[in-house]
Amino acid sequence: MKVPKEIKTYCPACKKHTVHKVSNPKKGKARGLAWGTLRHERRTKGYVGKVKGQANVRKQGKRQKLTLECTVCKKKQDRLLGGGRTKKRVEIGK
Ligand SMILES: [Zn+2]
Repeated sequence: MKVPKEIKTYCPACKKHTVHKVSNPKKGKARGLAWGTLRHERRTKGYVGKVKGQANVRKQGKRQKLTLECTVCKKKQDRLLGGGRTKKRVEIGK
């Protein structure tokens, strides 16, 4: 899936359509593991119970985000592609 470098779209801050720069969102800092995450990790390692079988579920696509930066007010907003799920990798600038 190809995405242009600049998109003209609605900016909630300017309350009108402006040109937005498109970029990949950077991964935020990982925070301390939540209890649920820890439990899930333990289970997948086999210490507690079983979650096998669940591992066979294949994802149909990925939720891919784009970061749009308004060139007028420099505010950023996130945008999901393809109705939330895309099967193909996103390329910017083509
Ligand atoms: Zn704006």
